[in-house]
Amino acid sequence: MTLANGRTYLAIPGPSVIPDRVLQAMHRASPNIYEGELIRTTQSIKRDLARLAGTAGEVALYIGNGHGAWEASLSNILSPGDKILVANAGDFAQRWGDIGASFGAEVINIDFGLRAPIDPDRIETELRKDTDHRIRAVMAVQVDTASGVLNDIGAIRAAIDRANHPALLLSDNMASMGCEPFKMDRLGVDMTLAGSQKGLMTPAGIAILWLGPKALEARETAKCVTPYWDWKPRIDPQKFADIFFGTAPTHQIFGLREALDMIDEEGLDAILVRHETLARAIWAAVDCWGQGGPMELNITDPKYRSHSVTTVRVGAPHGTRIRRWVETNMGVTLGIGLGMGTPEDPSADGVFRIGHMGHVNAPMVLGVLGAIDAALKALGIPHGKGAVEAATTLLAGVVAKTAP
Ligand SMILES: *Cc1c(COP(=O)(O)O)cnc(C)c1O
Repeated sequence: MTLANGRTYLAIPGPSVIPDRVLQAMHRASPNIYEGELIRTTQSIKRDLARLAGTAGEVALYIGNGHGAWEASLSNILSPGDKILVANAGDFAQRWGDIGASFGAEVINIDFGLRAPIDPDRIETELRKDTDHRIRAVMAVQVDTASGVLNDIGAIRAAIDRANHPALLLSDNMASMGCEPFKMDRLGVDMTLAGSQKGLMTPAGIAILWLGPKALEARETAKCVTPYWDWKPRIDPQKFADIFFGTAPTHQIFGLREALDMIDEEGLDAILVRHETLARAIWAAVDCWGQGGPMELNITDPKYRSHSVTTVRVGAPHGTRIRRWVETNMGVTLGIGLGMGTPEDPSADGVFRIGHMGHVNAPMVLGVLGAIDAALKALGIPHGKGAVEAATTLLAGVVAKTAP
């Protein structure tokens, strides 16, 4: 017997749940790639993506995933011997930095550990030391998908300005675009990165760079740029094929168009409130479980918790046991503990993550919480009672306050 049959739920922090509307928009014959609808649709996507990120800058698209966006971001601004300042609050920024190292950049990695946000003062201190201004870019991740931390990108901008340093500010919004408040131009971000497969609800395959004037200027002297990653033809195409440097990802374009329509219909503000509310329901449940057992949220200060992914500590081997149990018995797949290994628990078996980004609503989140609650009971893991109740109480309260 299994209770998993029925619609399964991939509750990992990317790829996220793909709406039926997006799947259906992709279910069609290949279009003409030289003229007509595809060209217009691609142009409309670039326009709407710029609006979504809050920028009047350029948008460069690639066939690629997040790693592709990372490589694109650095190849267009770096020359061998440049320095980059990597602000790592979890796991992702350091991996991005590794790509810079492979280009011959000197990487200064400031590590803030697995449970805390970036401290802007340490960025300022490091920049002040760089008196000959060799640091080309400060690289930060808005939501680190491993730790579940939400960094304050505006505070990093302020730190760079206080140091009076010309470094570019790069923000990886892979796990937060369309999930967290972000206005690129207002925040003074020079380059923003995302992919199609998380908050944008589309299969992996389109990597996106948003480019401000300082990033475009940096491209003019960069020596690491290669033909595929060069953003110039992509933002200033002579023909449609320049936009993707070859065949366009036709079906991803149709899917992303539909996803952006859905974002427009709901409205970004409403989407952000939905993400925040569902995240708070998850936090309420985890806090409740933690009152009678080993479970706790990885990020203790709610101000620095992501609203798109939650990292939960429960002690090895329970994290992996819970994941296995809910997948087999309930049809819910949770995220593994990523980059969370310690000498005592190298496999990060004590950690799991809940992805709640994009096309996610209350019954989905309540289903995940109910499944975890059942796992705790079935596996005999000590836990506080009433977690799902705590979540429904929170949701009911928010709805009562905001409903017309
Ligand atoms: C998912 C993710 C990436 C990497 O994306 P891939 O598509 O797996 O290459 C990079 N940064 C962040 C913050 C992410 O969440």
